[in-house]
Amino acid sequence: MREGSLEAPTRHPLDWKNELFWDKENLEAELERVYDICHGCRRCVSLCDAFPTLFDLVDESETMEVDGVAKADYMKVVDQCYLCDLCYLTKCPYVPPHEWNVDFPHLMLRAKAQKFKAEGTSFRNKTLSNTDAVTRLMKIPVVNQTGNALLGNKTFRSVFEKGFGVHHKATVPKYHRKNMAKVCKDLLAGDVNRMPAGSTTGRVALYATCYGNYNTPDLGADFLKVFQHNDIEIKLVPKERCCGMPKFELGDLDSVERNMQFNIPVLAKLVDEGFDLVAPIPSCVLMYKQELPLMFPDNEDVIKVQNAFFDPFEYLAIRHKAGLLKTDFKQELGDISYQVACHQRVQRIGNKTRDILSLVPDTQVLPIERCSGHDGSYAVKNETYDKAVKIARPVVRKVTDQAANHFTSDCPMASAHVAKLAGDAVTSNEHPMTLLCRAYGL
Ligand code: SF4
Ligand code: SF4
Repeated sequence: MREGSLEAPTRHPLDWKNELFWDKENLEAELERVYDICHGCRRCVSLCDAFPTLFDLVDESETMEVDGVAKADYMKVVDQCYLCDLCYLTKCPYVPPHEWNVDFPHLMLRAKAQKFKAEGTSFRNKTLSNTDAVTRLMKIPVVNQTGNALLGNKTFRSVFEKGFGVHHKATVPKYHRKNMAKVCKDLLAGDVNRMPAGSTTGRVALYATCYGNYNTPDLGADFLKVFQHNDIEIKLVPKERCCGMPKFELGDLDSVERNMQFNIPVLAKLVDEGFDLVAPIPSCVLMYKQELPLMFPDNEDVIKVQNAFFDPFEYLAIRHKAGLLKTDFKQELGDISYQVACHQRVQRIGNKTRDILSLVPDTQVLPIERCSGHDGSYAVKNETYDKAVKIARPVVRKVTDQAANHFTSDCPMASAHVAKLAGDAVTSNEHPMTLLCRAYGL
């Protein structure tokens, strides 16, 4: 048998509409099979806490093999997986088309989905993953003021930790009352001399995302300015709900389907009108580029949206290749510590953010290809906050050593988590699009 596959990795659709997907014994047999392969391989030991948990269970068992691990303990491994996908796309030689057919993240997802169906989840997890409801609530003026004040209050955070399970040191973002559309309304007008290039139409609809809409609405203005400066027509997606990633990470696949049923018709219509799609958060882009198509492979509109969705810097890089990206920069950026978000890495588009920022004169981008540890709500939950800090440690060390002028990551949640841990070592923490906007002098 060949050691590892020599062919390009492929991914099988998630067979979640099949009854067998929900069969407990079948799942346990598959977990045992894959855990055994991982035990013999151990390449992923440094990626997250799922693999060390598995290897500890094996090494501490009587047989020191997977057959010595109690099936009741299998979920201990699953609970440490936050579906970053790095093991699948950066390490595993046994992914399809290899005959061992290892898809560790989607096996973890299947186990999460069975657990969610059987047991439901906590009030905390439901709330954290219901980003639409949280933002609706935080839009209400009195709730917004009080909520933001309380989340910044040390005493309240200790009480909140005990009652709700959000770690008192976890980075919790501020909520804005005005969403991205309101913040950007004066920038939305204006014709541009747009031109298609490569796979891009030069006409873009920005999917704001929950985080972009209510936690970083100003970021929308930077997107609009940079894209319009480069003669790309851009507008906001007129109505949207959460992409479903927080529900996906919980294994709540029915909620993912409900959000898909709301979002996809809106996005598919935009694609029919000639719009490409971008979003400021890599996890949301990945949802449309990868996870929804794997969940709904026969839905033509899902595939249509998949084909039109781009990482924003991937989009700019395609335009640059066609000679359509302006390089009339007004301001150097100096050294930039750049944490490459996992959900962007696994899109297999190369390091386009680095490439574009490196076009700015007197600017050096120093990429850090390690997990930030934020990982959805992993860095927020009481029981995993310490692990998230540990996972972030190599990034924090690098950022501190680099002592750059700026720290950035395409994922604002990851960058906030790392910046807080790095303390005074980070003096500027802004999204790469904000940095690019500044470099253009816009
Ligand atoms: S998907 Fe990410 S978190 Fe899950 S097991 Fe793989 S590397 Fe670990
Ligand atoms: S996921 Fe693949 S690379 Fe990672 S430990 Fe398991 S078999 Fe090895």
